[in-house]
Amino acid sequence: MGSRPLSLDQVTWCCGIFKGWFEAAGERGIAILVDRQADGAPAFMIQSRSVDTDDEGPKNHPRPVTLVAELHIQFCPWCGRRLADVYRDAIDLMARPQLRQAQP
Ligand SMILES: [Zn+2]
Repeated sequence: MGSRPLSLDQVTWCCGIFKGWFEAAGERGIAILVDRQADGAPAFMIQSRSVDTDDEGPKNHPRPVTLVAELHIQFCPWCGRRLADVYRDAIDLMARPQLRQAQP
């Protein structure tokens, strides 16, 4: 393990697949998001987004539509490492609360 990263370029990723899905956030489809919970603990999520971030979605649909869904994870789904250990020093660089699901 290296020293504390100062930018995302310096983050040591658990694997290239995780990095790829992290970089996909904000676009329609699946992505990895990182944030801190209210108590400061790191949170890692798989996010599914039905529309791009600047798209407010279908109008006048007769039933509720899920535009964004988030599933919390503790281990990388591809390499199996414990995410809180791998990214302990990088959480605040990786957090993108503007891409989170809107809280009701
Ligand atoms: Zn991984």
